[in-house]
Formats: sequence, C-alpha cells, structure tokens
Amino acid sequence: MSARILVVEDEAHIRMGLLELLSSEGYSATACDRGDDVESAVRSRLPDLIVLDVMLPGLSGYDVCRNLRRAGVRVPILMLTAKGQELDKVIGLDLGADDYVTKPFGVRELLARIAALLRRTRTTGTGDGAPEPWQMGGWTVDPRTFRISRGPVSGELTARELKLLQLFHARPGEVLSREVLLREVWGQRYFGTTRTLDQVIVALRRKLGDSADAPRHLHTVHGVGYRFEP
Ligand code: CA
Repeated sequence: MSARILVVEDEAHIRMGLLELLSSEGYSATACDRGDDVESAVRSRLPDLIVLDVMLPGLSGYDVCRNLRRAGVRVPILMLTAKGQELDKVIGLDLGADDYVTKPFGVRELLARIAALLRRTRTTGTGDGAPEPWQMGGWTVDPRTFRISRGPVSGELTARELKLLQLFHARPGEVLSREVLLREVWGQRYFGTTRTLDQVIVALRRKLGDSADAPRHLHTVHGVGYRFEP
C-alpha cells in the first residue's frame, strides 16, 4: 500500500506542485491550506507523513506540530521552512518535528528526505509493528507511546529523545560520541552542530530526573560524548 502523505501549504502553486510530484512518485497525497485545518485532516485520515509549511494562515506550522505531538500524534513531520526561519526551533526537540527542508527546495532532496523519514519510521517503529517497551536505569521506555515511566513518575519523549535512548539501550555501557549521536539522530547533514544535541541531552536529563551537575544516568564524557549508566 502506498504511503499516505498530507501536504500542508497555503501557497497554491507549491501545494499543487507537491501533490502532483508525490502522486507521480506513487504516494497517496492529500493537502490542506490552513494550519487550523490540519488536526481534523489528520483525524479523518491518519497520514504516514506530514509535509508542513511554517507560515500558514490560521495556525503556524510550529504550533500545528506542537499541538499534534501534544495530542499524541506520532506521524513523522517534515517542515518546509524559508531561509532565515528559526531552524533551531525546527530541528529542536520540544517542537517534535523530525526534519526540515528549506525553500526553495530541490525535488530530489525533498523526495529523499521523505523516503528517509518513512524508512526511519518503519525501522524505529513509530508506526505499525512498533517494538516492545524496554527497561533502562529503572525506567520503562515505551516506544509505542513515547513515554518513560518509573513507578508513579512518567514523562513524554520527543522522537529524538526516544531515538537517543534507543541508541544507548542498543549499546549498553558504551560511550557514544557526539558525532555518532548526531549522525544517528539527525542524519549526516547535521554533522558538527552539537548545540541541538546538548539541548536534547538537557531535556532528557530533566525527564530522567538527572541533575545537570551530577547526573545519575546520562553522563557527559568530556571531549567525547555521552554514556548511559543504568
Ligand atoms: Ca506558507
């Protein structure tokens, strides 16, 4: 079955162009042109991926993204940004977007990013056939609900926080370098930009109840990267 893609874009020529392109690539594409229409569009027909413009009437792409995540919608989101828009915000974790392309984008780049996100969803299990929950450091991590819990304490993870925990879980006791983490979580393209990684680590420590000065679980290995101590 072809993957369903929802395009959210108010500029008609881009929206129509994307619909045409995605359909010609074999995707089942639909569109809406307002930010405040996205939630009902998602509810009526859950897409496998959302291509989401930032500047939209009704509700901005940032708000749409945040609202969907808060509502528990885990569909991968590819943001369409203009040059100079707040990229940190887009790739930052609180928002919950998975990737972005900057306008004007090349068709090939866009298709490659879409294919990569759909592939990643299948392998990390944000879609159907999600992997089972696992234990680490006394926490139960549930990739199906993006939640961590320990006794009565629970919290919600962003896609990148979950991915980080998956990496640490897959390689117990190992120090994972910043380069490896950036490549695995953000893709080769973000190689070398460590600030957003540090921000996710800070957020993840907070959710794990770790203190920044003396973390129990998520340790900084200076000059190298990070290690998870169960
Ligand atoms: Ca727009």
